Amino acid sequence: MSALSRIGRFAPSPTGPLHFGSLVSALASYLDIRQHGGRWLVRIEDIDPPREISGASATILQQLQAHGLHWDGNVLYQSERLPSYLEALDQLKQKDLIYYCQCNRPRMQRLGGIYDSQCRYLQLTAKDHAIRLNVGDRVPTKGGIEGEIEREDAAYLSFTDQILGHYQQCLRAEVGDFVLRRRDGLFSYQLAVVVDDQYQGITHIMRGSDLLDSTPRQIYLQQCLGYSQPEYAHLPVAINPDGQKLSKQNHAAALVPGDEAHNLFTALVWLQQEPPAALAKQSITEILDWGIKHWSLAKIPGTLEMAAPQEF
Ligand SMILES: [Zn+2]
Repeated sequence: MSALSRIGRFAPSPTGPLHFGSLVSALASYLDIRQHGGRWLVRIEDIDPPREISGASATILQQLQAHGLHWDGNVLYQSERLPSYLEALDQLKQKDLIYYCQCNRPRMQRLGGIYDSQCRYLQLTAKDHAIRLNVGDRVPTKGGIEGEIEREDAAYLSFTDQILGHYQQCLRAEVGDFVLRRRDGLFSYQLAVVVDDQYQGITHIMRGSDLLDSTPRQIYLQQCLGYSQPEYAHLPVAINPDGQKLSKQNHAAALVPGDEAHNLFTALVWLQQEPPAALAKQSITEILDWGIKHWSLAKIPGTLEMAAPQEF
């Protein structure tokens, strides 16, 4: 395998079985990586025990196998990676980029989600406080002088999404210093995902557009830790008739065993890959082979949401 090989991953949380929306993400990433002869990895993001459903990891892996989505190497479990997250925090601490935050939930609610950096200079040390990443100073909303305009430009983090194109966010004004470790000691999704994408050598990330606005945070963390930056492609999210993302919380139907070929074909249609009607009658192997051969990122609609097929 050359150093330039593409490496992708599917990284579900074990909060329930796969539904149509998660199958679409897995399939799209799988086809894209396989078309390029790369390695496709699976990572179980099991670092939030209160949200997890017992047995869900095994069910998800079994469902992937049943759909012919076979991964390379061993499954990586984030619950076994905690020392690496601590190490990353240590690295950030040495660069003076993190700090303890004692703000409680009511205060955060009053702030409306964008943290105001109040604890940044308090030098708190209590281990039961949250840990936040310093993203720099808040940007003045209207800069009258040249210096302020320059600072505002520098505060924007941008990247080119392979499906959605240019995307930018001002971390300082739109997100604020964000949590890397919660008060209850659990590591944040943002930290774990960045550390593990680097650890697994991921070069291409394909996932739902609900994670689009997390991407600048993840790129910023990559920069703070001296990691390389993967390519990103954000897929439309499948929504139900109420306009909600298909999810366990919204009672999305788990994929029915025995329907694998139909599920794959429907996902290809939904991703506007234009499979021939005759493919619907074929085996999962034939459907996947067709998908690998004809996979086209350019055909995927550059939109954040699309209605899920009715049956799902
Ligand atoms: Zn605070």
